[in-house]
Amino acid sequence: MNGIQQAVLDSLPGKQKRTTNGWISFNAVCCHHNGESQDKRSRGGIITNGDAVSYHCFNCNFKTGWQPGRHISFKMRKLLTWLGVDENTRQMLNIEALRIKETVVVEDVEEEKFKIEFKSRPLPEGATSELPDNIREYALRRCIPVDKLMYSNSQPAGMWKRVIVPFKWGRRTIGFSARSIDDAGRPKYFTSHDNGYCYGIDNQLPNARFVVVTEGLFDAMCIGGVGILSNQCSETQAQIIDTLAREVILVPDRDIAGQKLINDALEYGWSVSFPDWEPDVKDVNDAVIRYGKLFTLKSIVDARETSSLKINLRRKRW
Ligand SMILES: [Zn+2]
Repeated sequence: MNGIQQAVLDSLPGKQKRTTNGWISFNAVCCHHNGESQDKRSRGGIITNGDAVSYHCFNCNFKTGWQPGRHISFKMRKLLTWLGVDENTRQMLNIEALRIKETVVVEDVEEEKFKIEFKSRPLPEGATSELPDNIREYALRRCIPVDKLMYSNSQPAGMWKRVIVPFKWGRRTIGFSARSIDDAGRPKYFTSHDNGYCYGIDNQLPNARFVVVTEGLFDAMCIGGVGILSNQCSETQAQIIDTLAREVILVPDRDIAGQKLINDALEYGWSVSFPDWEPDVKDVNDAVIRYGKLFTLKSIVDARETSSLKINLRRKRW
């Protein structure tokens, strides 16, 4: 029995039944968090299998688990929270999972099962990687990598005054965002993509220890992070980010929308960073323009908080 299995078994509700095929059943702890009514018919189940542990709810269908070699997924963190495992113990289990990960052979670890597809969507008419001088200058001024940009000299939506960021999923183009290079241009962003997409997953290095998550597209692009492209992070997006299997550091904007994303970060068990930037620096892109990429990244990593208590204290002054 490892610490992760032990922590789960120790925190199960008192009334339990053991079935002959190894399941321990009890009133599920997930349902009312998932918009279903409270389980009163022992429809939650835990099973340990070798060093692994799985949870399955036959009432609301919530499933999660852990096996050696994997990190503790955000769904597993949720389960631990719902079982009443305290934050210190949860942090310790994260570390335990990482320690065990070092000792297992990678080939023995089953791949994460979460997969999602997005619908293919076309780029604006005549989109090309050849950028006119004014577009290129705009991108350089905002510290956006020009090799990831496109341009279209077309009329609809004033595309000819926009910088286009194509969105890829695997090899397919599944949409784009086109930002006006003129701040008075409306809408500021003209976008086309399915819900649930997040930008920058493919750009993450395979062995990085963390991923920086931002609300804005340009924020993500200039720091090599992942952009939620919305002021709320959906469960689908959280699952996509979770497949990276590393520490997630949210850098919220310093506004109301940023506060909303902090709520999501707390729910998903992410770290939140409150870097000590000058007051007029409102987001990651501002910071990169003023301080450069390396300094900004270092300030984000140094100022990250993992405990919900500290996150809640810092957010009040943010
Ligand atoms: Zn349930």
